[in-house]
Amino acid sequence: MSISSFIPPQRTLMGPGPSDVSARVLSALARPTIGHLDPCFVSMMDELKALLQYAFQTSNPYTIALSAPGSAGMEACFVNLVSPGDTVIVCRNGVFGQRMIENVVRIGAKPIVVDSPWGRAVQPQQLEDALKQNPETKFVAFVHAETSTGALSDAKTLCALAKQYDCLTIVDAVTSLGGVELRVDDWGIDAIYSGSQKCLSCVPGISPISFSEQATQVIKERDVPIQSWFLDQSLVMGYWSGEGKRAYHHTAPVNSLYAMHEALLMLKQEGIENSWKRHADMHKILAQGLDNLGLEFIVPEDERLPQLNTVKIPHGVNDAAVRALLLNEFNLEIGAGLGEFAGNAWRIGLMGHAARKENVALCLSALTTALK
Ligand SMILES: *Cc1c(COP(=O)(O)O)cnc(C)c1O
Repeated sequence: MSISSFIPPQRTLMGPGPSDVSARVLSALARPTIGHLDPCFVSMMDELKALLQYAFQTSNPYTIALSAPGSAGMEACFVNLVSPGDTVIVCRNGVFGQRMIENVVRIGAKPIVVDSPWGRAVQPQQLEDALKQNPETKFVAFVHAETSTGALSDAKTLCALAKQYDCLTIVDAVTSLGGVELRVDDWGIDAIYSGSQKCLSCVPGISPISFSEQATQVIKERDVPIQSWFLDQSLVMGYWSGEGKRAYHHTAPVNSLYAMHEALLMLKQEGIENSWKRHADMHKILAQGLDNLGLEFIVPEDERLPQLNTVKIPHGVNDAAVRALLLNEFNLEIGAGLGEFAGNAWRIGLMGHAARKENVALCLSALTTALK
């Protein structure tokens, strides 16, 4: 067998993630690797924290980039905050809500599940009913942007309800961060995690997380030690903060963090509100075009994610054949259906750097050809 360098094809990524990474971010990745305790690297980490605080719209001092994908960010929030025996309300309206439940169960805590239909937002009234019926509840967890269905939930209202019943909130913002309005401090979110490869358009493998003062306090005061060594934030805290001195915990993915710094700087330079608006604007053009092609959205208009468009596959159309044609002839990736929607929906992403007019035009013309 003769093996040569791997040269990937140049694709346009319009699926559920990873999204297109800009040349600017890719070039940041190629800068010289330096030591992760080098003073230059430590000051870069401090800037990265400030940029993340901006992206999350928070002043939480504990705002860092976890050296692992979004799934690890999810696990970090649950294992650090939830102790065995705690009651946690989890709102489930897709695949990622289900994963939250699995986290709660593995900890030995008690999940109370609030179910909404696939393709719909979480219903605040149902959360309120569950909070009334389960006064021992300590945490409320939900997915802001359900990537498996394309539904956007009203995080502000859900968090306000949780606060009314003295619960801490755990929010999945993997797909929402940078793509739709999200205000950690104003909305009273206690623990939040995201991912690098969705609307931030960075390379996969990094998970931004942020904990409120109250959540940080819960971690410091735990009497049952956190079962995960790597995700134990009481240990990671010393790596990401401290005056000048940083204690070694693990080796940060040095170059990936350069890329994250660059992607977040681009977001800051664009302005977060402008980024939210760009996603909404591109979604409108795409939605109009999909409608002209006779493709039907699954999620009701006022609950739709601009950055993830879920449409029904028309009767008689071969799902796999269309996606293969888009990939092979147009170098265009769109997402297949997941979970309940497997085989009967497409998920078209407009995330971060991919949310541009030229991508919308490419997607619509490629779909027009494929559907003929
Ligand atoms: C992609 C995604 C995750 C998981 O992130 P990974 O980086 O793939 O581990 C979690 N939650 C939501 C809503 C996602 O879209």
